[in-house]
Amino acid sequence: MQNALEKWERKMSNYNWCHNPDCHTIETQSRVRGSGDNKVLRTRKIKSYGTDSIWTYFCNNNCLHQFLNKFAREIANIRPVNKPSETPIKVEKTKEESYRYRYSNGESRRVPYISTRTTISRVDNDWPFLYSPRYENN
Ligand SMILES: [Zn+2]
Repeated sequence: MQNALEKWERKMSNYNWCHNPDCHTIETQSRVRGSGDNKVLRTRKIKSYGTDSIWTYFCNNNCLHQFLNKFAREIANIRPVNKPSETPIKVEKTKEESYRYRYSNGESRRVPYISTRTTISRVDNDWPFLYSPRYENN
């Protein structure tokens, strides 16, 4: 029969080893194990708190990207993309009055001009999705 503490300890001892196959070759203090003449660099242990995040499998950004680079083809083959996808959008261009500064003879002068603001919104959603507006000079 398990008591609450034993259950908690089991839960907290859930862990993964970092999935980068070269994690144990990276020279950091946090990977050093053993004593005396029997020291090794060991793959980092990652505590799992029940969240299904990518950081449950990789100890840091460097290890994640080493893994992605090493297995890029296999990863792409998990879900092949043979044609592009498309998102229906509406592109609206609106004219706005704006200002720029022109420098001459050591003085700056505010000069008005008409800029074009481009707004991309998705049409497959109920709410308009504002994509980063771009400004073009006319
Ligand atoms: Zn690692």
